[in-house]
Amino acid sequence: MRITFAAAEVAPYAKVGGLADVAGSLPQALAALGHEVTVYLPLHRSLDQTKYAIPGSAERTRSVPYGEAHARIEYPEIVRDGVRTVFVKHARIGRDKVYGYPDDAKRYALFCRAVVADLIDAPPDIVHAHDWHAALLIPLAARTRRLSGAATVFTIHNLAYQGRTSAEVLKLVGLPRARLPIEDRNEANPMARAIATADIISTVSERYAEEILTPEFGERLDGMLRERRADLWGITNGIDTSFFDPARDPQIAARFSADDQTGKATDKAQLQKETGLAVEPKAPLFGVIGRLVEQKGVDLLTAVAPWLLDNGAQLVILGTGEPTYEAKWKDLAAKMKGRLALTLGFDASLAQRIYAGADLFLMPSRFEPCGLGQLISLRYGTIPVVRAVGGLATTVHDVDADAGRGNGFSFKRYEAAAFADALQRALHRYRADGEPWVALRTRAMREDHSWTASAKRYVEMYSAAAKARRAA
Ligand code: ADP
Repeated sequence: MRITFAAAEVAPYAKVGGLADVAGSLPQALAALGHEVTVYLPLHRSLDQTKYAIPGSAERTRSVPYGEAHARIEYPEIVRDGVRTVFVKHARIGRDKVYGYPDDAKRYALFCRAVVADLIDAPPDIVHAHDWHAALLIPLAARTRRLSGAATVFTIHNLAYQGRTSAEVLKLVGLPRARLPIEDRNEANPMARAIATADIISTVSERYAEEILTPEFGERLDGMLRERRADLWGITNGIDTSFFDPARDPQIAARFSADDQTGKATDKAQLQKETGLAVEPKAPLFGVIGRLVEQKGVDLLTAVAPWLLDNGAQLVILGTGEPTYEAKWKDLAAKMKGRLALTLGFDASLAQRIYAGADLFLMPSRFEPCGLGQLISLRYGTIPVVRAVGGLATTVHDVDADAGRGNGFSFKRYEAAAFADALQRALHRYRADGEPWVALRTRAMREDHSWTASAKRYVEMYSAAAKARRAA
């Protein structure tokens, strides 16, 4: 199949969160299965063009209608690991940050319009748009006669971000303004429009696919999603297991594997040194990596942190996000020097050293479509403690509930006491030391969270989408 991806962030070129990991590694897995994959992403200004040998001037440019005028778009491209990647270049789209500008909705509408313009010469079999930034690609493709044979697939990586904006944006890219029932007057909701129009909709874990049909997790779109239930797929994300591989990771001090885990102790000591923690081999070291936003359970983390540290644990945190949460962590870090190490910012290489050097990894999310942090942790033998929600519930099984299959610790209610109980159980098992902990770590490391199984499910889904398109 000829498959076209469109996403705002794609690893390794531009990354803010898990969307980049998926849009970077799933195409490679599909290419390995024999499919032809092209990935579109904006040429963000922060993107390192030299490092990835992205041509400075593109061979292909197009004049794309945008509002009353036209935008001149360039399409420099490269081929890497069997995947063709096309960068959409225009001053209005490319900025230092991937998101966070008042005109994000317009930037990404132009991105979608530019992708459609580039597809019509050689229409693909599948147009696969990811999250709200690429969402308008779906109704745009549906209205483009030359693309009428292409099946459209929309993947929800996070339903909470819908790109709600003024209806003006529709006019800019030539879409009709007719309102969806859930849109307010003069509002456009790109994500809702993709959900309404795509041949198939998917999301990134089986559990989240069920959750989003309920008012609790549906973010106001649960009614629409229930209507499209028959076309909604849940496919759990994989990770790039050759990139995230403790046996080959160039970012870590000592390499290790399930068969020989001795290097992990060195990585722990190095991490303690690097982040200014006391170098104590026996102190349980907990890692946190992620966006510091309400979704990630920062309230629970900051509530239990003092108790956890009083219990002899250490905490290493890497993240960036809402200023109030950053301030809260700064406060705690100042009070608990040597036990709590805080790095505010985005640092992919430090992230690998935390995954490798920590003993346990914390993700007490309020909701979690899939979550990749726990999958990467498992790969590095770092035992996850998570709230059993969304993809965390799909991928982490409590060792106290199921000793044979357990790979971590989990709790259900979004309450500090429930989180503390899971942590207490984790500490107890960690301190029992010796065989049971090593056995748990070995089992975690041996699990297969590669794309192998999930990429095949995506191919099945594409076939279903193509069938739906033919029927339409
Ligand atoms: P989300 O997509 O909601 O942010 P995920 O768990 O799905 O959460 O994916 C987050 C990805 O981004 C992981 O690969 C994680 O390691 C990475 N990440 C998040 N914050 C940072 C950070 N501050 N520095 C480096 N990597 C980060």
